Amino acid sequence: MTGLLVAVAVVVGLAIGSFLNVVVWRVPRGESVAHPPSACPRCGHVIRARDNVPVVSWVLLRGRCRDCGNPISARYPLVEAGTAVLFGLTAWFTGPAWTLPALLYLAAVSVALALIDIDTKRLPNAIVLPSYPVALVLLALASWNPGGTSDWSAFVRALIGGAALFLVYFVTVLVYPAGMGFGDVKLAGVLGLYLGWFGWGALFTGWFAAFLLGGLFSVGLLLAGRAGRKSGIPFGPWMLLGAAVGIVLGEPLWAWYLGAL
Ligand SMILES: [Zn+2]
Repeated sequence: MTGLLVAVAVVVGLAIGSFLNVVVWRVPRGESVAHPPSACPRCGHVIRARDNVPVVSWVLLRGRCRDCGNPISARYPLVEAGTAVLFGLTAWFTGPAWTLPALLYLAAVSVALALIDIDTKRLPNAIVLPSYPVALVLLALASWNPGGTSDWSAFVRALIGGAALFLVYFVTVLVYPAGMGFGDVKLAGVLGLYLGWFGWGALFTGWFAAFLLGGLFSVGLLLAGRAGRKSGIPFGPWMLLGAAVGIVLGEPLWAWYLGAL
């Protein structure tokens, strides 16, 4: 059952990854993700359906436009393959459970927001704000757990977690405005909903892991002489990675920590 679920998630992930390439390019530019259809940026020819198959088309065309030979960035197939792997891992992590839709949505949004933050150092409201109602609905579905035992205490924890992480980041930005921005604060609320749903250990670990991983990366860059103190690394990707660590490892780590005390 889980094997089939993972296979379906990988195929869906390829298609979603293809859509996320459009989102990452157009949303920061304020363009519609639905119209017009994708076209070659050099010759303007609309991409044919058979040339729009995730990963496969790029490989068959050897990374070039069919019409003018303009190189097409390897980032497109990499985002498609990466999203497919992430979707597969998510399905493998949850198995057939009602947490899967909520986590697949988080995975898709994470890919889009991480890339946009790296490209533009912004986390667009157009993606972050709708994620509040979407996450709430999907986490409510996971709490309801149709066909199984409902756990509404997880949903209450999600609400507390969302408010708590929003406030913690809000205060952090007020105290240290150079480190991050209000885009990070708004994203923190969404991630807090998810982390809180999974547990207090997930919430704490997700918050801590973001600063630990982001901090280690910054120190590494400084030591490698690749960045000055002011180069301003976007923090969004570390928040998203931290949340993933919190969801996967937070509860076991928390139990181990409490047991060790
Ligand atoms: Zn072309």
